[in-house]
Amino acid sequence: MINIATPMLGDDEIEAVKEVLLSGMLAQGKKVAEFEEKFADFCGTKHAVATGNGTQALHIALMASGIEHGDEVITSPFSFVSSATSILFSHARPVFADIDPKTFNIEPSEIRKKITDKTKAIMPIHIFGQCADMPAIQEIANEHNLKIIEDACQAHGAEIGEKRAGSFGDSAAFSFYPTKNMTTGEGGIITTDNEEIADKARKLRNHGQASRYDYEFIGFNFRMTDIAAAIGLAQLSKLEDWTCKRINNARYLDEALGEKGISPPFVSSGYRHVYHQYTIRVKGREQVIAKLKEGGVGTGVYYPKPLHKFDILAEFATPDLQESEKAAMEVLSLPVHPGLSKEDLDAIVDAF
Ligand SMILES: *Cc1c(COP(=O)(O)O)cnc(C)c1O
Repeated sequence: MINIATPMLGDDEIEAVKEVLLSGMLAQGKKVAEFEEKFADFCGTKHAVATGNGTQALHIALMASGIEHGDEVITSPFSFVSSATSILFSHARPVFADIDPKTFNIEPSEIRKKITDKTKAIMPIHIFGQCADMPAIQEIANEHNLKIIEDACQAHGAEIGEKRAGSFGDSAAFSFYPTKNMTTGEGGIITTDNEEIADKARKLRNHGQASRYDYEFIGFNFRMTDIAAAIGLAQLSKLEDWTCKRINNARYLDEALGEKGISPPFVSSGYRHVYHQYTIRVKGREQVIAKLKEGGVGTGVYYPKPLHKFDILAEFATPDLQESEKAAMEVLSLPVHPGLSKEDLDAIVDAF
């Protein structure tokens, strides 16, 4: 079976973990600090603050940006659940704006329609590894004095021009879950150029402490371990190579599937899509999934429902989220990860 995702783990990661275990210093320490520095460099930001997972990174990025009770944060319903629940954790209200059917990313003109006097921030999600329309979103944020928190959990190394995901907003959150473009087991990180946000996020992840037992406010234990950071350092050094493989795999599928009449994932001009997922639209999805499975090809449906269709978030539903609802019925993600061989790619094409 060709899996939809597979973590790329080898001797580098094993050695890195062994080194930390033998040092006896397992919790947040030198490795986390080194990982933060390298990841900030990678994104082209001044600061990075590592956390236990991507959801925690979103949660404290929102809080560190000053989002609080009574605020509204505009985001896309076509995402993973924590894009919206992290807004609820910060005691604010998620307001859903519909997506651009071509890119599956939040549509800037839909954001404009949702702005009220309570709106404090926009959370664009760089879905599937392609940045949202950040120039348009930055223009809206500037006009209305809104913060931007990027959900970059799927977009390690994605770019618009020369600028990387994680460097567009006031802050951004990444995830290092095993299915993401790089992993630390569980892990997350916040990137920002803003000293104040970085400082607040560092305190929020460590019980609100300014220094030991000096509690400035109520915080969390959202720390990353040195074990996870050591894996992350090994992974980060190989990420660029993996991203190129993902892009090459996508080009191969674009062409071969194109010959079978399948439209490839749309890539906006000047954007670097890093293919966290290679997502197409199909009719009769259940039959297609079954046929591909017969051909030994695993697939994924991201996402089977937009967030406002889940009971826990139904109170945030509005009638104008049609493109998200339509996408949820049609999307199908195919394997594109860097572990695929030429034979695997041909097997995917043949299965069609
Ligand atoms: C994975 C993901 C998250 C959550 O990250 P975790 O590390 O699983 O907590 C949030 N948003 C999006 C879009 C994701 O893909």
